[in-house]
Amino acid sequence: MLVSVIIPCYNEELVIQESYKRLTSVMDGLEHTYELIFINDGSRDKTYEILHQLSQEDEKVKVLNFSRNFGHQCAVTAGINHCNGDAAVIIDSDLQDPPEVIVEMLKIMEEQQANVVYGVRKKRKGENWFKLVTAKYFYRFLNNLSDVKFPVDTGDFRLIDRKIIDIFNRMEEKNKYIRGIISWMGYKQLPCYYDRDERFAGETKYPLKKMLKFAMIGVFYFSKKPLKIATFTGFISVLIGVLYGIVALITKLIYPYSLVTGWTTLIILIIFFGGVQLITIGVLGQYIGNLFDEAKDRPEYIVDEKINF
Ligand code: UDP
Ligand code: MG
Repeated sequence: MLVSVIIPCYNEELVIQESYKRLTSVMDGLEHTYELIFINDGSRDKTYEILHQLSQEDEKVKVLNFSRNFGHQCAVTAGINHCNGDAAVIIDSDLQDPPEVIVEMLKIMEEQQANVVYGVRKKRKGENWFKLVTAKYFYRFLNNLSDVKFPVDTGDFRLIDRKIIDIFNRMEEKNKYIRGIISWMGYKQLPCYYDRDERFAGETKYPLKKMLKFAMIGVFYFSKKPLKIATFTGFISVLIGVLYGIVALITKLIYPYSLVTGWTTLIILIIFFGGVQLITIGVLGQYIGNLFDEAKDRPEYIVDEKINF
């Protein structure tokens, strides 16, 4: 069996050499052949030079060099699109996902004929509380919104077989939420529990802005509930409006000459309904924006150079 290892890298000059060493020593211990596919996602540091060097010394090292930074999900997509393996592992370059777990994943896949073995994080070392809390609740929140059931506490660290790779390669979505798409496919998917380590060196390449964008794709590509919630809010607002209208009419009939009052009420209602309308339009806008992205039909990424392919 040929196992492809897919490793997205963005400004990872401090970790790549170590990742290469750890991965090689794990993969050399297996009875399978393997290839290491590094995707350089438009790094501005020495990542490219280091990868180039490694690819000259070891022909199992293959490199896809992007024309600019396209993002983690695009990098992983490129890796899956270009891999030749009978199975592929998606793993971060920063050694937060310990390469040793791959051995266990392969064992689960072989013994239980699984199509996907996904890593479930038991512990996460060296993450700040904000990331821990947001991640924990986000996955549960998404599960409530979506019709697809996603395993919680699971990232993209996983082993997938050729069947899954081939189906993935036919998926035409431009904004990919990879862990969601793979869950959506069905087949036999089994967990593999592991402790997530600290980043080996350097800092996270997922600032809050990228995390939010990623979360939005998860929500708006996997659920139509926001639209239903918007409609529901609309109905509630109409109901409040009608009830208040009745109260206002009755008051007017009973006290026809009362002074002009109700300025506060008026302002509150304008702000409230204005807000509801803006939020609803915003929700619609998200779906339209996503349609726009898909309709443009631009490639998800541009590979400038392929080495050892
Ligand atoms: N990454 C990437 N492109 C990006 C951001 C991140 O290829 O635009 C890679 C990064 O090099 C790492 C993986 O995606 O291998 C996960 O990123 P990171 O470790 O920074 O995220 P975190 O573990 O903090 O969520
Ligand atoms: Mg990381």
